[in-house]
Amino acid sequence: MPNALTFNIQQFSTEDGPGIRTTVFMKRCPLRCVWCHNPEGMSPHLDLVWYDARCIAARECLRVCPENALTLTPTGMMIDRKRCTVCGKCVEACPASALEIIGKEWTADELMTELLKDKVFYETSGGGITFSGGEPMMQTDFLCEVLPRCKNAGLHVALDTCGAISPERYQRVIEWIDLALFDLKIMDGERHRAATGIGNELILNNARLLSMRGVPMWIRTPIIPGYTDDRANIESIARFIRDELPTVERWDLLAYTNLGKPKYHRLDMPYALENVPLLMREEMEAAWRVAHEIVPVARWSGATR
Ligand code: SF4
Ligand code: SF4
Repeated sequence: MPNALTFNIQQFSTEDGPGIRTTVFMKRCPLRCVWCHNPEGMSPHLDLVWYDARCIAARECLRVCPENALTLTPTGMMIDRKRCTVCGKCVEACPASALEIIGKEWTADELMTELLKDKVFYETSGGGITFSGGEPMMQTDFLCEVLPRCKNAGLHVALDTCGAISPERYQRVIEWIDLALFDLKIMDGERHRAATGIGNELILNNARLLSMRGVPMWIRTPIIPGYTDDRANIESIARFIRDELPTVERWDLLAYTNLGKPKYHRLDMPYALENVPLLMREEMEAAWRVAHEIVPVARWSGATR
């Protein structure tokens, strides 16, 4: 039986579907969106990170590391990720909790126990479970274990997906999905490839497939300055929703957030939007007006300047 690899389990979530939910953030993603605010969700393995604000330079981590993978420099901790085996010895040794391993394995039994803890809140709020990521469909075998258990327990299940997965995989889970939170980012194929690493044909076809199969959908579009925020792109997504996705109940325009920036630094990953400020409120309202004119269930949210 496969285990799941997650990077977060968020209880009392109100952003990932109706009601109060537990969101399971699963590791691995086929896309590499330059704006991704969960870069720790991209990789298929555990990641070691170091928090400069917590470090008291006790140096216990350096002493216990069997691989000699750590160097404390005046500008911060250098982690030699080629050497690091993510054994966790430095995490245990640090008296200030300045090192942390991102990622945790779960069996289906363990995860179900965790998810059922809040069942009363799901029932009283009309909530449930959301599988998110990264891309949860990268762990389809595990979903095929755990989704039927969720349904047998009477839990509402939402799948938060980027759409870039083979249609055969969606066919395997579709009967257990109550709601798809589906990302539509850029309608031009080449621009989509430049911003995320792949074209969008598969994504658009999977959106059509889910809607054709009657799955209720909430579309999500991140509004990213210079990438997705132009009128032509928003209009084009709007027309696609209006003309081809009859089961869409809601379209969320999500304002660009730079909250992921420190995570890139902690993971030694480059961040393409290093100096990009948040959008202005008027810019989000203008984007929303374009969307709303064609798709009346459009709404927007997120922090602005
Ligand atoms: S996780 Fe293990 S190998 Fe990696 S730096 Fe820490 S002690 Fe060294
Ligand atoms: S699809 Fe989502 S999780 Fe994957 S890279 Fe893009 S923003 Fe990140």
